[in-house]
Amino acid sequence: MNKGEYWNPVLETLPQEKLRQLQLKKFQEIVTWAYDHSKFYHQLYADAGLEPGDIKTFDDIRKVPKMEKSMMRDVQGPGKDNFPYGDILCVPLEQVTDYRQTSGTTGQPVYQADTWQDWEYGTEAYCYALYAQGYRASDRIFLPFGYNIFIAFWAYHYAGEKLGCEVIPGGVLNTEARILKMQELRATAMGATPTYVLGMAETARKMGLNPPTDLCIRKITVAGEPGGSIPATRKRMEDAWGAKVYDQVGSTEIGHWGWECRQQAGLHVNEALYLIEIEDVNTGECIDRPGKRGKMVVTTFNRLAQPCIRFDVKDLIEWNPEPCACGRTFRLLLGGIKGRADDITKVKGVLLSPTAIEEVVRDIPQLSNEYLVVVTKKGDIDDITLKVELLPKFQKDEASVRSVLTDQLRVKTNLGYNIEFHPYESLPRSQAKSRRFQDQRPKLH
Ligand SMILES: [Zn+2]
Repeated sequence: MNKGEYWNPVLETLPQEKLRQLQLKKFQEIVTWAYDHSKFYHQLYADAGLEPGDIKTFDDIRKVPKMEKSMMRDVQGPGKDNFPYGDILCVPLEQVTDYRQTSGTTGQPVYQADTWQDWEYGTEAYCYALYAQGYRASDRIFLPFGYNIFIAFWAYHYAGEKLGCEVIPGGVLNTEARILKMQELRATAMGATPTYVLGMAETARKMGLNPPTDLCIRKITVAGEPGGSIPATRKRMEDAWGAKVYDQVGSTEIGHWGWECRQQAGLHVNEALYLIEIEDVNTGECIDRPGKRGKMVVTTFNRLAQPCIRFDVKDLIEWNPEPCACGRTFRLLLGGIKGRADDITKVKGVLLSPTAIEEVVRDIPQLSNEYLVVVTKKGDIDDITLKVELLPKFQKDEASVRSVLTDQLRVKTNLGYNIEFHPYESLPRSQAKSRRFQDQRPKLH
């Protein structure tokens, strides 16, 4: 069969009804597997009075208890079974071939075990993404990234190889050396965080290079930050590189469940390998129709060492009412991930998502790519400051930019900000995930 645009032509065009049947069958299988092989899951389900055989219809899935990151942490670590993974592990330790851990900034990380079969499954999931983004065997991929104990870009590397692309690991090189190597080898594609994609373009220009004409990068897959699904940030990246930029999402515990296709119409959920449910943040009700945002609950179907079953991720998402023009039946999420339930914070009594600020700042062409938001408390009152940089050639535009920023931030976030202009390149730059939102208010507890 001619693959055409699809990595897996059968699964990616399966009618929705058939996809739901497939998902129910796979869900039943993974629950049975976990119940039979992991003390953690056995106890979780036994406490809820649930046995795998009780799941007979799609609606029964919602009877299965959810789990979350803190529950994994609680069973892992020193003094627990199957060190360091805990009794969530469903296979003997000897079968574990890959170790990763979460990169959370607080508390003990979650340890993630994979068998070789699990790792192949993770790679396969990433192949759907790269193929949909137009990666083919003729591509030469450059990875401007230092691989380490976190999951980031490992599967991108393996999936590139599986597609037959040529993969160049750009690990310990600095940014200038990476750019020169990409130029020397005429790399056609790369994967990085949005922050680093923008930072690299800046560095290239300082080296006297114009990325769209002096380099051959035509496809960029971004992950790790929401920028790929924020139109203004995407446009900045595409203009800087003369390349198409595609978003890709995943995490250590789940794997690579969502990606954009060449239509760039939103994130496709890989419904053959994952079940994504959306749940009302307040009531816990299932949202199965477009038009309402809720938090994501995800099940991995084929990860056997350490499955995630109804994992409460707390990412905020909503279904797109429109099917994608690419012909895939995998549903789309509208506008990618709209922040995390945990990141939504109250400032001056108003709910604020940091992503909304990024949308405003990146849409103003006179501003550089960097900005910083600092929330403090003055007396009893929250105070929010936005620090931005004008690009050198727009220094005279401070008053007009201040006015546009103030208006747009008011419209998009319902808040007033102190706006500070800082000299170009004085705000902190980062090579990986950036922390542009700093809440410095004293904690209440
Ligand atoms: Zn599509």
